[in-house]
Amino acid sequence: MPTVVLTADRGTFTDYGGISTLGYVACMPARIVPRPLMNLLFTPEMKSYRSGEAVYAPYALRKVEAALLERGVDVIVVPPNNLDKVIDENTKVLGITVHDPRGLSPVSMKLTMLFGGGPAWNAVFFDEMGRRIWQLKKKYGFRVVAGGPATWQLVLERPEWVDTIFNGEAEVDLPNIIKDAIEGRQIPSDVKGRDPKVEEIPTIKKPSRLGEVQVTRGCPRGCQFCSITPETFRSIPLKDILEEVKLNISHGQKSVELLTDDILLYGSNRLRTNHDAVVELFRSVKEAGAEQIYFPHISAPPVVTDEKTVLEISDIAEYKKYRAEAPVVGLESGSKRIIYKYMRGKSFPFKPEEWGEVIVNATSILNKASITPCYTMTIGYPDETDDDVQESIDLVSNLFSSGNRSWVFPLPVIPMGSTKISKNPFPALKTLPSKYWELLYLSWKNDLRVTREVFPDMTGRMFSSTLRGIVNLLMDRTLAHVEEVFKELMETKGEKAYEYSLIDLNSITGVLRSIYWFFRAQMSGVSPVGIPSIEQTAVKFSSTPGKIGK
Ligand code: SF4
Repeated sequence: MPTVVLTADRGTFTDYGGISTLGYVACMPARIVPRPLMNLLFTPEMKSYRSGEAVYAPYALRKVEAALLERGVDVIVVPPNNLDKVIDENTKVLGITVHDPRGLSPVSMKLTMLFGGGPAWNAVFFDEMGRRIWQLKKKYGFRVVAGGPATWQLVLERPEWVDTIFNGEAEVDLPNIIKDAIEGRQIPSDVKGRDPKVEEIPTIKKPSRLGEVQVTRGCPRGCQFCSITPETFRSIPLKDILEEVKLNISHGQKSVELLTDDILLYGSNRLRTNHDAVVELFRSVKEAGAEQIYFPHISAPPVVTDEKTVLEISDIAEYKKYRAEAPVVGLESGSKRIIYKYMRGKSFPFKPEEWGEVIVNATSILNKASITPCYTMTIGYPDETDDDVQESIDLVSNLFSSGNRSWVFPLPVIPMGSTKISKNPFPALKTLPSKYWELLYLSWKNDLRVTREVFPDMTGRMFSSTLRGIVNLLMDRTLAHVEEVFKELMETKGEKAYEYSLIDLNSITGVLRSIYWFFRAQMSGVSPVGIPSIEQTAVKFSSTPGKIGK
């Protein structure tokens, strides 16, 4: 077997049944979503060959694999369930990429706080993988190197079985660390990888999941809560992009996901949209054989300044037919003060005072292009007041009354280790501005309506028609109850969240206790006693394999 094995936990190493947005379910507390649903619908295991090697893999692992192959390293990428199959005495290094190993991403933090605390599925999956790695490591003595966008979560409490935490981009320095480990030399416990020039970034050699192909790296806007580097924004050369697109298509992928932090940044200079470069990108990808083209992120200001570009890419990608549901757009805040202080570049070339108008106009243009944006907000800066949140409520109310279609998710702002606000405290139910709950209810009422409208279109992309039917049915039943939950959270200013900590749908006693709690609460209207603190359960975790949660 190869000397280097690359993998990730199940919450990362999955294709989410064909719809990447279903990955957000892994941010829910594990108590609330039964394991069989995760296994079957939301984080299904990915296909592999007899050797254990993955047929398709997350793009980040494919990129590291390519960098190692170009340096002559013998490497294999495997889903986490195949680790036992491929690791043996030949294994010298196990590399893992981490995306939310402790469940501390903004979405996981929000959902675990709102639904009663406890580890998110992402954290459970990471812990399960950690236990397995720990046992295999004791047997075979290989070294473990962890990289990826969420290494900051591992720095907060380091797993014993990780030898090196590799921060930053992999291409320049990671191959040297891995070669040192293979040859038995000492490797550092913490590394900051240097950023490669575009010509130093190799193309992937084997297919990625969901047709993922990266088109830009970095973002020049420089928001203080974001870990993406402003200094080193790069666009990947079109010939490299097309090489990867063709590789994926030749391995059976029909759609292409253009990975970027803002699709309109492609080929840009100093935040000015390069219309020709963006249009040529879409046209070339379509001509290379992509049936559908999607992208995960776009910013509002260039949508407004470059409507023509948005409409043209929509035509090329045939969004009237395929629709582009839920690319993420940062709305962040309606407060001019908060925008000036924490994200001055966000609204460029517009002023923060114009932000509300920019958001409404961008939504109207995106809808015209058959794109439904998914706005995320960051709420809960230490100095954020109810007046600031009221400005956000006003902006969101204007957006909804404009008649355009969008989702809005107000998330607690997370002090990620690699950002300028890393010293801020983590958000907690009691420290969020009290008007947050009003904003949350207003947003969710709208989001549930929009979800009902577009969900059948989104699940149309799922690989299996049977699973599509099950997901549609489940979603319909779930949505019917969720609005009530958010109303109660607003009326109790979040206190209701403490009651949800008694729900546990992953053990028999948990289910019985949940049923008892449900009926008791219905009959008496009294909150149950002995509920653990959500602040404790949401943020704490164990680095010791074998333990999950508090
Ligand atoms: S615009 Fe988005 S990607 Fe760019 S720095 Fe701000 S939050 Fe990060």
